[in-house]
Amino acid sequence: MNEYDSDKIADVLRASEGVVLTDKAEDADIILFNTCSIREKAEEKVFSDLGRVRPLKLAKPDLIIGVGGCVASQEGATIFRRAPYVDVIFGPQTLHRLPELISARRASGKTQMDISFPEIEKFDSLPTPQITTGSAYVSIMEGCSKFCTFCVVPYTRGDELSRPLADVMRDIRGLVAQGVGEITLLGQNVNAYAGEHDDGETVDLAYLIRTISALDGVQRVRYVTSHPREMTPRLIELYGDTPKLANHLHLPVQSGSDRVLAAMQRGYTALEYKSIIRKIRALRPDISITSDFIVGFPGETESDFEATMKLIEDVGFDASFSFLYSPRPGTPAAEMLDEVPYEAKMARLKRLKTRIDELENAVAQAMVGTVQRVVVEGISKKEQTDMAGRTDNNRVVNFVGSADLLGRFVEVTITAVSMHTLRGELVRTV
Ligand code: SAH
Ligand code: SF4
Repeated sequence: MNEYDSDKIADVLRASEGVVLTDKAEDADIILFNTCSIREKAEEKVFSDLGRVRPLKLAKPDLIIGVGGCVASQEGATIFRRAPYVDVIFGPQTLHRLPELISARRASGKTQMDISFPEIEKFDSLPTPQITTGSAYVSIMEGCSKFCTFCVVPYTRGDELSRPLADVMRDIRGLVAQGVGEITLLGQNVNAYAGEHDDGETVDLAYLIRTISALDGVQRVRYVTSHPREMTPRLIELYGDTPKLANHLHLPVQSGSDRVLAAMQRGYTALEYKSIIRKIRALRPDISITSDFIVGFPGETESDFEATMKLIEDVGFDASFSFLYSPRPGTPAAEMLDEVPYEAKMARLKRLKTRIDELENAVAQAMVGTVQRVVVEGISKKEQTDMAGRTDNNRVVNFVGSADLLGRFVEVTITAVSMHTLRGELVRTV
């Protein structure tokens, strides 16, 4: 979501003032930090990063320094107090107003801040993105109204709000016309999508995916991040009859303990979660399921944690994310009694990560020798001579290939596995 927003920030400034990106902070006339406040560590990082650019501002007083994203949304004017050299503060829903905020700052000499939630206006004001890979994100809904007790998102990004179907489809047709073959639908709770149809009816994510899959140029559709509570029978059905839907589902579970899930207010039990997975696997036996886990939620006991480890075995997750619980100011969980020692939480996290890594590696090993259809996303991060692509089950594969493959779908034989990436050999373009 943050990466998507950062791309939009660049698009908006390029369209309005011809601003171009630079890798060197010393060359910049505008330095913007797009921040995350999902965990404390991410939040503190912005203040150390701000400290690093302060000398640049002293050397070049015209330099504009801005802070956007969820830390801006949460902290607001406090940022001006902690870092008085900041010029502009904007929220996740007001990034389209950046050009005005920057020119107001330049014209008036006064700091500018806008962290409001102006409904869906943001999308109407966004310029057409320039896509350089074969895969593109399309944000279809914003915000979250679930209020899990640990989470800051509903406060920083505001309520769930879906874009009208026609707007989403216009964006997607534009991308397909540019040669984009893989579309990833994006939202905090993407499967809560409820977009308005031209006829006034409301359509769901299943309808949207069917509509997109019917477009000739589209080869693959993904969606992220989805909530177990919104895995409707209509959405599950797609895994049986929509081959363009990627063979991967990221479905955050957080915990395998019903007691902890209830305290988190997730709205499902471990059994209900497993039942969703069982229904999907009945239609797509080889689908890769990844998840998010929070370890050390207030009051989590050893047996709660064992229940999470058991769920991991029962489901057989692929590569997943796991986090140490981080109390977020203003959330209900931050007020809960938390007597579990830090060391115990860390030991649990380590155990969980080790097991997930083993499972991830086993999936990768099983892929060796198979032919995978990948969309070529760019030049490999490891070797400049290699290209990198993404498999149906969301793995990165590096292989020898020329830059003109960018954006194409190709077939690659998997030849080897290293840490989190695969190595392959180009078979043919498809
Ligand atoms: N809407 C998605 C997740 C969005 S946040 C969902 O509900 O599944 C991404 C992930 O960050 C969450 O799945 C959770 O695992 C983690 N996270 C959120 N708040 C956290 C906190 N306070 N401490 C630790 N991890 C957290
Ligand atoms: Fe946060 Fe996801 Fe829960 Fe919303 S559904 S409150 S984004 S964890």
